[in-house]
Amino acid sequence: MRVLVVEDEIGIANFLQQGLEEEGYRVSICNNGREGLKLALAEEFAILLLDWNLPEFSGLQICKSIREKGINSPVIFLTARDTTEDIIKGLQAGANDYIKKPFNFNELLERMKVQLRGKEAPQRLVLGSLEVLPGSRQAFVKGEEIHLTQKEFELLSYLLERKGEVCSRSKIIEDVWDIHFDYETGVIDVYVNALRKKLGEAAAFLKTVRGIGYMIQK
Ligand code: CA
Repeated sequence: MRVLVVEDEIGIANFLQQGLEEEGYRVSICNNGREGLKLALAEEFAILLLDWNLPEFSGLQICKSIREKGINSPVIFLTARDTTEDIIKGLQAGANDYIKKPFNFNELLERMKVQLRGKEAPQRLVLGSLEVLPGSRQAFVKGEEIHLTQKEFELLSYLLERKGEVCSRSKIIEDVWDIHFDYETGVIDVYVNALRKKLGEAAAFLKTVRGIGYMIQK
């Protein structure tokens, strides 16, 4: 499940990234309000954790703007502001909850779970003859199980969850392999080739986007 954290205190941002990734979330971090808003509008997140005081745009502005654009993902404010007036402002801007800094990480996790209730990872991803069960890590083509390595499975699920979206090699290497350098992206092509062989006829959904990366066609 993808989480966007917009927080300009690097220490807190890193702490959140590490803690949330250990809990199985995929975390994107922004240290600036403008960048955070851009990312929140460009990509889909299950939940957003927003600091209030940020460079350029405040968390409050980010929250207002995404709600105006019809983005309904839950928003939790992480803020030292805790006057009733601030809390009301946050809720009016469309926030779902807030946590006062300094915060307890377990409390944050529990509050996130409350907001994410009913939005667990899909039980089943289906596209034509292809069926993927994230829970049991199984994949089927025309009802026949295909045996994927862990990375092949993660790559396929990642692309399927973003079907219709072009995924760049650098984004895939960062999100699926957790490598933050561009020079290793050749490994993706090797995995995609292996995946295509195993997918057989369902490989037709997996398109190469020249010079950029890959996408699963809807
Ligand atoms: Ca701040």
